[in-house]
Amino acid sequence: MSSQKRDLYEVLGVSRSATAAEIKKAYRKLAIKYHPDKNPGDKEAEEKFKEAAEAYGILSDEEKRQRYDRFGFDGVRGASGGQHYTNMEDIFSQFGDIFGDIFGGGFRSGGFGGHSGGGRKRRGGHIKIKVNLSLEDVAKGVTKKIKINKYVTCSACNGSGAKDRNAIRTCETCHGSGQVVRVVNSFFGRMQQASVCPSCHGEGHTITDKCRKCHGDGVVRGEDIVEINIPAGVEDDMQMTLRGKGNAAPNNGIPGDLIVQINVKDHEHFIRDGNDVIYNAYVNFADAALGAKIQIPTLTGKVNITMPEGTQSGNIFRLKGKGIPGLNHHSHQGDLLVIINVYTPKKLSREEKEILERLRTSPHFQPEKTVKSGSFFKRMKDYFYRH
Ligand SMILES: [Zn+2]
Ligand SMILES: [Zn+2]
Repeated sequence: MSSQKRDLYEVLGVSRSATAAEIKKAYRKLAIKYHPDKNPGDKEAEEKFKEAAEAYGILSDEEKRQRYDRFGFDGVRGASGGQHYTNMEDIFSQFGDIFGDIFGGGFRSGGFGGHSGGGRKRRGGHIKIKVNLSLEDVAKGVTKKIKINKYVTCSACNGSGAKDRNAIRTCETCHGSGQVVRVVNSFFGRMQQASVCPSCHGEGHTITDKCRKCHGDGVVRGEDIVEINIPAGVEDDMQMTLRGKGNAAPNNGIPGDLIVQINVKDHEHFIRDGNDVIYNAYVNFADAALGAKIQIPTLTGKVNITMPEGTQSGNIFRLKGKGIPGLNHHSHQGDLLVIINVYTPKKLSREEKEILERLRTSPHFQPEKTVKSGSFFKRMKDYFYRH
């Protein structure tokens, strides 16, 4: 994905001769700093978090590190090599141990607050919802309050799943760390190998008496009112991720995300074209010929525009800045394009017919030679087919 990758040692802020312990320490520091739970909704932090995980994935593996040192990124590309993390879950599942260390160290406290320890944290499921917006909502930005049915932390046990605090026992197998360490003899010598504790499944504790309300899960079905701030300028089908607003996780784990899909409803007057908005104005023939002030609706209220005399069907008035604001600083503030359509009367009184009959042959009523027959359609074509 990223073509100009930063040097992995630079990413972790260590020297090329750093020891495995130094690399691990540097990564832990970055992982804590850029952890998504500490930086909710911060895309840059998320990218840094992923970048650090990628660097650690390679430099913590002796073989991959050697290949990287010799061949750079080319040495670690492909299935067995470097991994670009697009999904946060991947990082947690791959480096669960290191996160266990971090959380066990008090970064994230769980249960009744008193007990830290515990290894792997479980994750709550993501929830996807659709939010319907009008074009006016898109123009101004909007805050939507939405009721969501989801798993919430059990109020009876505060998510611990235990009947009371005496029902939580530190796991006797792993003494609360959530993992067991074995010493194995390998080709490289004696090595310590950590794995998830089989007695407590990484929780670090066992429950002797379960909470009656949630039967030990720590979560129950419930509902939550979520306030969603939608910025101006969003587009149909865009997705926003509200980190941690999804399902609560069993036993005070990491909550899932709420994924909000934007659905922009069609508007009865306006057509959206990027950030520009098109409005078809129907004007009466006399106004077009004589000039007139006409009232135009916009997404933020009505405005008057002055049509000069001799306005033609198909003329376009551009109202600067009356379209949709740019979503970010890369995109421009849109305009409102008013396309003039001269309305031809369908029904005429005898008197109106008499007046028009007299004007029918009047020289000023004949189309000018300078008006090219194709100009109207050409303009429309230019407008609608320029994408
Ligand atoms: Zn255990
Ligand atoms: Zn409970």
